[in-house]
Amino acid sequence: MMNTDINLGIDLGGTKIEIAALDFSTNNIIYRHRIPSPQNVYKDTLQAICNLIFETEKKLGLECQVGIGIPGSISSISGKVRNANSIWLNDKPLLNDISQILGKSIKIDNDANCFAISEAKDGAGENYSSVFGVILGTGVGSGIVINQQIIKGSNGLAGEWGHNPLPWKTSSERETRDCWCGKTDCIEKYISGPSLEKEYLEMFGEKKPLKMIVGNSLKGDENCSLLMDRFISRVARCFASVINFLDPDAIIIGGGLSNIERLYTDVPKIWSKWIFSGRSETKILKAMHGDSSGVRGAAWLNKN
Ligand SMILES: [Zn+2]
Repeated sequence: MMNTDINLGIDLGGTKIEIAALDFSTNNIIYRHRIPSPQNVYKDTLQAICNLIFETEKKLGLECQVGIGIPGSISSISGKVRNANSIWLNDKPLLNDISQILGKSIKIDNDANCFAISEAKDGAGENYSSVFGVILGTGVGSGIVINQQIIKGSNGLAGEWGHNPLPWKTSSERETRDCWCGKTDCIEKYISGPSLEKEYLEMFGEKKPLKMIVGNSLKGDENCSLLMDRFISRVARCFASVINFLDPDAIIIGGGLSNIERLYTDVPKIWSKWIFSGRSETKILKAMHGDSSGVRGAAWLNKN
């Protein structure tokens, strides 16, 4: 019999697949396990996911509801995966195939939506009715949660904010940047980790990991500070445009770049320049669950 107190969540990433069992009586993870992601072959990925679920249910001695977070989304029209950077998943009926192998229906959602629902349910956003969850990392993704429900949108695209153009471009941002999505000047091309490292290399002819750029900027390095000032200005403009159309109670940041403390102190100091009313009470908060947000959010997909 299906239990309702413990759900399984799976975070399907490009390099690893993680499973966790979330116990809703305490909101604690009571079991977790990760394996390397099979590469390039859809059938191998499918089998690896199903094996993880079978093994976990056996270990727990329970039959559980299953939610999966993926990099990309399921098209509401075709039912197939689209926009996944693990490209061998694209155009495959992942939801149907897993449900068939397991013999029960499951849920799949975008990993940024999983992040947002995890933080809205029992993380940094639990006291706010509208939450904009942003992952700043190798890519830029986001999810919108209103009254603890993910807003999917009629095309399943709600929160694909990272592929809007960077707003209020400055004189240092006049060049055109091509994005993998086929559009140009996407926000992701200006505020993700790889895009900042590329910009530093182009500006100063030197390759530096972002961690070092952030660290050196705090020690007064002029080149690193210049790039970080640009980053803070861009994030302020991007968040101001979010406030102008959604006006969320809280913006919660996760992903590798969420450790940059200036996001929380300096962005709210300057964003009023672009906010329609000139001021905002929206909070910017750091994610509470860190790397666990993916599996936690996936487990929450089957819980109201
Ligand atoms: Zn794009």
